Amino acid sequence: MKLLKSAQVQTLALTEDDLEQINRHTLRAFNADELYAFKLLMCDNEIDRDDERFTVDALQGLAKLYLGKTVIRDHVPSSANQTARIYSTEVVQDAERKTSLGEPYTALVSKAYMVRTDSNADLIKEIEAGIKKEVSVGCIIHRLSCSVCGNTPGKCRHLPGRTYDGVYCHTLLNDPKDAYEVSFVAVPSQRNAGTTKNHEDDPEDRTKDIALNDVFLFLQKQRKDD
Ligand SMILES: [Zn+2]
Repeated sequence: MKLLKSAQVQTLALTEDDLEQINRHTLRAFNADELYAFKLLMCDNEIDRDDERFTVDALQGLAKLYLGKTVIRDHVPSSANQTARIYSTEVVQDAERKTSLGEPYTALVSKAYMVRTDSNADLIKEIEAGIKKEVSVGCIIHRLSCSVCGNTPGKCRHLPGRTYDGVYCHTLLNDPKDAYEVSFVAVPSQRNAGTTKNHEDDPEDRTKDIALNDVFLFLQKQRKDD
């Protein structure tokens, strides 16, 4: 999908199909003029800076979990702060683009809508202006496995980042269990390299929190003058 190749903000029109999907989440039917929608690249199957990688199955699972989740600002989960809602999720594959492992690049792409109000007018303007926005998404991954032997990382002799008989050792993220809201992050976080995880006592069950550094917002703006 071309949208994954581009790091530029793109303006698209809401389709009838989008409107129908959005109106499943609303109490009354909204028309395109009242709405603002955008696309987000949530996560993909590329090895990240922590030597971890979502499996395609995990991306499919996350697609189900993220549907209907809210988009908030600065991780403040108050109802007044709910900026947008995810109304569509899709796992898309770009057969022409290969990951570092030579697999087709695959990503979870979401669409979110917001109802145009005075309170989000500035945010919409910032997105329209192409100002870079970080988006942070969090989820719980139930099972981690070593890419070399399949065992739980730490319970085998393989170290992520090293190569064993030609196999690059990294951690596979399998079986997503839950997904949290997505948050615009106004101030670039202190996260080194954009990725952090909350380590929990149970190594099988930890939160992966990803801050995407590039512009992952693809706008679907209804052109009023059309
Ligand atoms: Zn191993």
